[in-house]
Amino acid sequence: MKRALITGINGQDGSYLAELLLERGYESHGILKRNSVAENQTARLDDIFKDLKLEYADMLDMASLIRVLQLVQPDEIYNLAAQSHVRISFDQPIYTTQVVGLGVLNLLESIRLTDKNIKVYQASSSEMFGNSFDDDGFQRETTPMHPTSPYGCAKVYAYNICCNYRNAYDMYISNGILFNHESPLRSNEFVTKKIINHCKLIKKGKLKYLYLGDINIYRDWGWAPEYVEAMYLMLKQKNPKDLVIGSGKKHSLRNFVYEVFRLLKIPRKHLKLNTKKLMRKKDIRSYQADPRLAKKVLNWKAKTTFKQMIYKMVKGQLY
Ligand code: NAP
Repeated sequence: MKRALITGINGQDGSYLAELLLERGYESHGILKRNSVAENQTARLDDIFKDLKLEYADMLDMASLIRVLQLVQPDEIYNLAAQSHVRISFDQPIYTTQVVGLGVLNLLESIRLTDKNIKVYQASSSEMFGNSFDDDGFQRETTPMHPTSPYGCAKVYAYNICCNYRNAYDMYISNGILFNHESPLRSNEFVTKKIINHCKLIKKGKLKYLYLGDINIYRDWGWAPEYVEAMYLMLKQKNPKDLVIGSGKKHSLRNFVYEVFRLLKIPRKHLKLNTKKLMRKKDIRSYQADPRLAKKVLNWKAKTTFKQMIYKMVKGQLY
């Protein structure tokens, strides 16, 4: 039986991935960072909790990572742990950089000192590109990286140190450069989930308006359960490879909002735009993945459409 260790197992992607790995016959382990509200911390894992093996550790505490690696002796590690919120990375730039950047180095060093044959997946992000895109408007594996947030900068460091360890120590490390992916398990502080939650309150008459900043931004959105499948497939390849994972289609936040309003039958007069405190100065205008290499290498393609994704989020359908 293969053993996998997931950092960030209680996050959106970690909980989907843990379920997928259990289904594929893996012994699935994860690390939890200590949280004072332990009752809610594993809520996303409720359905599979009894089948998982969880250990306390922290990306900032290398000794704890080594302890877990020695205990679990995994074949594969999926590093999903992060302070993953772009806007909050401006409020906590140093902490974000420590977890998202240096935390990855802690993990790689722990692996190198423990067992450098472990296969590693690193959760890289489209935020590494920032406002940089190729002449055709797409972002792909070769697109230069010009991040525009502390989160994006830290992810670029993590990406580069992964490439460095792969080359310097001949380790199997793959960066999955994932574009936005959503599900009902997305945390409430992300805009997609906020829109749905607030619209449901409007529908019940408990809230009058949905307040948003600029909704003329474009994102390449996908369905999270499909994206964790891509992570799994990446570690199945003979050789490590960095791949862009996205739908290849972009949609505006405006269209996301209008689709939620349509599904819940809410009149558009309940929308208040350009709310000053919600405007982001340096928001990235447009993201669009070119996922053709992932299709070629993994035979992976996003299937769930933008409208299907929103429907499932509104209905709370996990799959
Ligand atoms: P998420 O829901 O925010 O989950 C992040 C996880 O990291 C949580 O389990 C969190 O634990 C854990 N964590 C945070 N700080 C930690 C620390 N110091 N030590 C150990 N664990 C720590 O994020 P996600 O949406 O699942 O994303 C998974 C990964 O993919 C992240 O690295 C994210 O940056 C990246 N990514 C996500 C997207 C996307 O659209 N979702 C796109 C590209 C890349 P607590 O909850 O207990 O704090």
